[in-house]
Amino acid sequence: MRLAMHADLSNAPGVRVRLAALVLGSVLPLAAIGVFLIENLYATERRQLIDDTRARVRAITAALDREFDSTIVALQALGTSRMLEVGDLAGFHTRAHSALANMRADSIVLVGTDGALLMSTRRPFGQALPKLRSTPLLRRILASGQPGVSDLFIGPLSGDYIYSMGVPIRQGGSIVMTLNATATHAQLAQVLKVQGLPVNWRAALVDRNGLVAARSHAIEKFLAKEIPPALKARLAAHSEDAVESRTLDGIRVYTVFSRSASSGWSAIVGIPLDELTQGLYRSLRWLIAATVGALGIGLALAWRIGGQIASSVQALVEPAHALGQQARLAIPPLYFREANALGTALTRAGQDLHGARAARRESEERLALAASAARLGIWVRDLDSGALWTSPDWRVLFAFDPAHEVGIDDFMRRIHADDRAGVQAILAQALTTRQRYETEYRIELPDGNLRWIGSQGNVETDASGKARLLRGVSFDISTRRRSELDIEQMRKEVTHLARVALMGELTGAMAHELNQPLTSILSNAQAALRYLRQQPPRLDQVHAILADIVSEDERAGQIIERLRRLFDKRETLPQPVAIDTLVAEVAHLLRNDLINHGVILALDLGAGAAVVDADKVQLQQVLINLLINACDAMAERGKDDSLVLLRSAFGPERTVLLSVCDSGAGIAPAAMAQLFTPFFTTKASGMGLGLSICRNIAQAHGGRLWAENNAGPGATFYLSLPLRAPLP
Ligand code: ADP
Repeated sequence: MRLAMHADLSNAPGVRVRLAALVLGSVLPLAAIGVFLIENLYATERRQLIDDTRARVRAITAALDREFDSTIVALQALGTSRMLEVGDLAGFHTRAHSALANMRADSIVLVGTDGALLMSTRRPFGQALPKLRSTPLLRRILASGQPGVSDLFIGPLSGDYIYSMGVPIRQGGSIVMTLNATATHAQLAQVLKVQGLPVNWRAALVDRNGLVAARSHAIEKFLAKEIPPALKARLAAHSEDAVESRTLDGIRVYTVFSRSASSGWSAIVGIPLDELTQGLYRSLRWLIAATVGALGIGLALAWRIGGQIASSVQALVEPAHALGQQARLAIPPLYFREANALGTALTRAGQDLHGARAARRESEERLALAASAARLGIWVRDLDSGALWTSPDWRVLFAFDPAHEVGIDDFMRRIHADDRAGVQAILAQALTTRQRYETEYRIELPDGNLRWIGSQGNVETDASGKARLLRGVSFDISTRRRSELDIEQMRKEVTHLARVALMGELTGAMAHELNQPLTSILSNAQAALRYLRQQPPRLDQVHAILADIVSEDERAGQIIERLRRLFDKRETLPQPVAIDTLVAEVAHLLRNDLINHGVILALDLGAGAAVVDADKVQLQQVLINLLINACDAMAERGKDDSLVLLRSAFGPERTVLLSVCDSGAGIAPAAMAQLFTPFFTTKASGMGLGLSICRNIAQAHGGRLWAENNAGPGATFYLSLPLRAPLP
């Protein structure tokens, strides 16, 4: 059975009660089955006994009939005597006396049809005899002509209760008298006796009036007493039956009776109910005793074993507590193997736990040491309660008092106002996505200084996936941030320096470039002076010359402006740059340099009107660098008709690809890996900064810069840039 999680467990029944219930549950059903079986057996036995008794009662009735019949037969034989025929009653008296000795009767009488006693063996012959007061048997014999048996009546001569059997005596075809034999209950007692009924049973023979004629017990008391009316009524209605009743001496019996068809007398046998149920009660008593005994032993065992189990379990409770509290376990020997096994397991678990705790403590200490050494601040935020736990290092990092806990609001206030919303947004997003986050923000220290904090954290969920904890580490990244800023600054400086260096290289070209318009301006100005000196001055010519001068001057101005822009230290914002225009401008700018190097620049502009978002001057710088390097590489090789191919084409994934392909010395395998490393150079007067700056510029534009040796002589440098996003 599973107990409900929140049920009051202290009210759960103990082992003893459970075991007692087990004993009751096992013994009582068995006892019930026993009762059922005993009752069944009793019912069968009782039925059997009653059936046997019916047969016995029938046998008694048959014996009674035989008793009557034997006397009647003897009377009939006696009735055929000649003495009766001739009227010799004196002689017949003697004859009857001697016949009586062989008959089961007390006297023999002759009764006249009017009821007068003609002769009785009880009296000497000749003595006066009384007349019968009531003559039911006589009337029956006269009416039927058949022998018969009377009911009980008081004998006129003996004065006792007797009964008589009579046969008709005929003369000349008609009945002239009846010959009767009388007997008392003593004769009938024999009939009951021979049946050998159990001594406690009651048996009786009753006449047609329901009067007791013979009885197994106390006949002298109950002779001629009427049987109980209910039984009498039953007797009248059925020739054979069984019924519960009470005997005349008050014993409750189960009565079985049978009536004789010939005499109308009945035999009754009563089995005392006590005797009938005695076996049942005895069996039940045994059963109850056995049940009580079994229950007693069972409950005693349940009490004892339950106590042992309870004490074994109880003995493990304390160690289980001790296990939780990391105390030493002391488990005494217990009563049961299983309990001892559990005890051993607890002890082992205690040892394992001890080891695990020690290991955890060690690892925690190491972690704390590492966190402290790395100046990591650890924090945990309980999302249910909103409580914030912070490590002392964290509080030092955020310039709080290390001895006091701080709340989430204190933390938020510490964040620089400009960064606060960002931090809140990142935390909220981490809670929604349940994903690890990383962020950097500034905090404002109480002294007004700023500190940069790096923070990483993740969300911990419970089994149902609900966010439970937010846990993370914070650390000081101010130094790194400062050096990043320094590096950025340095990068800018170096970029500028590189440009200045480029300017040096380009000065010749620029001088040459400017030379042209300046020479033209000079010669135009001299011509103008000449025209002005003429008389009259040729003002129309002067006018045309001045227009030329203005145009040349504008050209020179453009040249200077381009140079100025290239070397300007200012950052410019990205703007749309048409690739082909860019390439054309660079080609124009380097025109004279290339000629001086004896290099022919071929253009293959396949990118059409591709546009990128870029700082145009920076991209110019990259291309100029690559082209000058190409010139240097070819000069190194010392060939005259050197060719550089500058190509633009569309690359994969919305990119444009610019390539500068030379036929120079190519790149040595050892140099390939270091080309873009700052200060790597193979040139006597090189700075080794050009390519590293160019790669920085490419990356700042979301692009890439790389080099490959050609299949033939020379190398190719590739610059890939993302195309400008199309306008929606
Ligand atoms: P610098 O030109 O000052 O040496 P760079 O960073 O521009 O600095 O170039 C670094 C090195 O890369 C060069 O010294 C050279 O060895 C090599 N290099 C650059 N371009 C080429 C090229 N087109 N062919 C062969 N080597 C090259």
